[in-house]
Amino acid sequence: MSMKYVYFFGGELTEGDTTMVAELGGKGANLAEMTLLGLPVPPGFTITCQTCLIYQEKGAMPTDVMKQVRENIKKVESLMGQEFGGRENPLLFSVRSGAPVSMPGMMDTVLNLGLNTQSLEGMIRRSENPRFVYDSYRRFIQMFGDVVKGISHDTFESLLSNMKFEMGVHFDNELTEEQLKLLIRRYREAYVRAIGEEFPEDPYVQLEQSIEAVFGSWNNPRAIKYRSLNHIRDDMGTAVNVQAMVFGNFNQNSGTGVAFTRNPATGEDVFYGEYLMNAQGEDVVAGIRTPQPINSVNRDSASQKTLEELMPEVYRQLDGFRLKLDKHYRDMQDLEFTIQDGKLFILQTRSGKRTAPAAIKIALDYLRKGMIKEKEALLRVETTFIDQLLHKQLDPEEKYKVVATGLPAGPGAAVGQVVFDAEAAVQWHKKGAQVILVRNETTPEDISGMNAAQGILTAMGGMTSHAALVARGMGKTCIVGCNTLKIDLSARTATIGREAIKEGDYITLAVGKRGEVILGELPLVEPRFSGDFAELLAIADRYRKLQVRANADTIKDSQQARQFGAEGIGLCRTEHMFFEGNRILAMREMILAETLEARKKALDKLLPLQQGDFEGIFEAMDGLPVTIRLLDPPLHEFLPRTDQEIAQLAEVIGMKAEAVKKSAARLHEMNPMLGHRGCRLLITFPEICEMQVRAIIGAAIRAANRGIKVHPEIMVPLVGHVNEIRYLRNIICQIADEMIAKSDKKISYTVGTMIEVPRAAVAAREIAGEAEFFSFGTNDLTQMGFGFSRDDIGSFIPEYRDLGILPDDPFEHLDQQGIGRLIEYAVLKGREAKPGLKVGICGEHGGDPSSIEFFHKVGLNYVSCSPFRVPIARLAAAQAAIRAERIIKN
Ligand code: ADP
Ligand code: MG
Ligand code: MG
Repeated sequence: MSMKYVYFFGGELTEGDTTMVAELGGKGANLAEMTLLGLPVPPGFTITCQTCLIYQEKGAMPTDVMKQVRENIKKVESLMGQEFGGRENPLLFSVRSGAPVSMPGMMDTVLNLGLNTQSLEGMIRRSENPRFVYDSYRRFIQMFGDVVKGISHDTFESLLSNMKFEMGVHFDNELTEEQLKLLIRRYREAYVRAIGEEFPEDPYVQLEQSIEAVFGSWNNPRAIKYRSLNHIRDDMGTAVNVQAMVFGNFNQNSGTGVAFTRNPATGEDVFYGEYLMNAQGEDVVAGIRTPQPINSVNRDSASQKTLEELMPEVYRQLDGFRLKLDKHYRDMQDLEFTIQDGKLFILQTRSGKRTAPAAIKIALDYLRKGMIKEKEALLRVETTFIDQLLHKQLDPEEKYKVVATGLPAGPGAAVGQVVFDAEAAVQWHKKGAQVILVRNETTPEDISGMNAAQGILTAMGGMTSHAALVARGMGKTCIVGCNTLKIDLSARTATIGREAIKEGDYITLAVGKRGEVILGELPLVEPRFSGDFAELLAIADRYRKLQVRANADTIKDSQQARQFGAEGIGLCRTEHMFFEGNRILAMREMILAETLEARKKALDKLLPLQQGDFEGIFEAMDGLPVTIRLLDPPLHEFLPRTDQEIAQLAEVIGMKAEAVKKSAARLHEMNPMLGHRGCRLLITFPEICEMQVRAIIGAAIRAANRGIKVHPEIMVPLVGHVNEIRYLRNIICQIADEMIAKSDKKISYTVGTMIEVPRAAVAAREIAGEAEFFSFGTNDLTQMGFGFSRDDIGSFIPEYRDLGILPDDPFEHLDQQGIGRLIEYAVLKGREAKPGLKVGICGEHGGDPSSIEFFHKVGLNYVSCSPFRVPIARLAAAQAAIRAERIIKN
């Protein structure tokens, strides 16, 4: 028996459904599902993603594919009562790509396939509308030439604009039948010039070449780039959907549109969409003519004619489908429709892209209506959305002048220098500039530029244009359809409203409810949280097993972290405190001291300052644990560098500048990151350890005296051997116990260690005997585990990623197969020695969702990350717990 490559949809015969996304792609699975739901979907069939993979591997399609395609075409022909490319009543097809994961605009569609000299005549006779048929044919030549043969889109576009110019018209739909005929002749000539052969007449040849082109497009550079930016796997392949054509360009009673079952910007439960009459395919999103709103929800001027007013019956029907789909899929849908001579067809549905506030509102709405469960609601909100919510906004206090407005397509606010193309955006960004990409409209070629920009502003297009969709996906600030923006690309200038700007000028975009464009640089402020946001995180807190702490070194950061829901501090770095104001002088004095006495004198200056800082942090974290790490960095970080610094220090400590320079040089190390730092420093200069413990415990006693509940955890960095922690622990406990005994407070503290030297992970069993907690310092552990210097990886990691040697930057996403194994082993051995051992992580990975999922699996007690990532970590930890549960149950 031969393999099944093709699945039919239409009428009673539909073979797929919404569960078959891996085989049929998202579009194909949903076309089948909508057919089953009884929606008016033109019939067709889907060639599977697996066929694409075979095609990619072999460079050709298996022979059976076209055989099965022919069988399916027969079924469509009999349902439609038409013949593919036929003379009397021709059937035309669209060829549409559709991967298992939505990749907007990445792979192109060919419409009107099957037109040739013979079917052209037939269609003209049947439709009695030659203009429409010629318009369809010229579109077909253009799409086939572009998508299948790789003839630049501009080749055809410039022939089209020349024609409009010659004929003195503005819009495509104003060209007459005769003019279109002439245009077709020019198109065909251009085709021959480019390809060296005539445009294919045989509809089966047209079809087979188109199918292969879609399969081939899975690996075009644009698609690859999109996948790598969005962390989409490369091994899924795309399906091809071949579907009977319906025509939105049939006459003035026809049109095409896109709609969301809710408002994708706010999540409000209103029908939201745009349409264009007498138009086909991508006309709505391509910004060729400005689309009109389907109803009064997003109408911004009374001159706009809504679909509801124009075709009330069609609108009513569409609204019915909206409710049906919204209920069936239990998620906001993004749908595409076409009206042919007053008859409505649905061409696509998928779960729609949305802004972060909309995502949360929608998930909570379905939850409140009882349509989904809490766990489902939590899984629906991607952690990147939380990141977007933490987007900067314009300071509400700020007064400013709006020079133009557009549609609020992407979140937040952005400030940057104007650039007019993607190339410039990338170049300027590389040089450290913050840029705003300003374009008429964007196309998939602009992806890298959009990614490099702080924000995007376009003159054309609606809420569903390419720019809007991509920006929402990236969480980028974006304003589209700013119709007072006029760009002069060759002069690299533009006017916005009445103002003239040039490349390099600063502008500010403030999205809000209406997208506002402001000249110059305005200050941006950190975001505030809405009630929905807090509610979602409160639900997340009930499902997560991991605690979430913050890395915070200052009182301000501690307060911020607590507001974001941190349950303590997982890493308080004491060294930062030494750089403030004049403290660095005392620190340098201490380091350069030649005698114990001189060093103690300098430390005595630092002690009250440190104690004050700790007391403030204990206060901010009242009732919660605070892990304080003893001094960690190599000494060279504190040494004076410039002559001025040396002179200043010399004066303070009463030494000659020359002598200071000499002592500093003596402390020079070949490789300070692997040198005299961390516990090594504390062991050779125990008086530093002593001072810090005195500051910590002293602060704890003072805070406790004021009624604050303190839980200090003293953490020793860079331990590799159990004897290191044993030695320091003795010193720490001796001082701390003595101080506590003298006070009348019962302060309990713990002593633990960082696990960041690979040897410590391997010797975790012994080390656990001397530690009450472990905290993985995954930055150093990754650095030392790989033997990569964190500061030097820029020279090879990008190439490693391109070559696929490493899938990701291991400093961004934990390397689970290597460094992760060290962690897993250390947890296991540590708890063997001490069953209740508390284990956490305090590296950058503590705020990374994929790493958090791993930390959940290996049973850590908490993750600690920067304050701004605390909300993300709360949600990621809940999602990790829910997913793990599902995997075990299945
Ligand atoms: P994308 O994946 O880029 O959204 P689609 O496959 O949805 O591409 O095709 C783009 C557009 O082409 C659709 O929005 C629709 O307007 C038009 N289209 C596709 N198939 C048909 C069809 N069978 N009849 C009429 N228009 C179609
Ligand atoms: Mg497209
Ligand atoms: Mg589509």
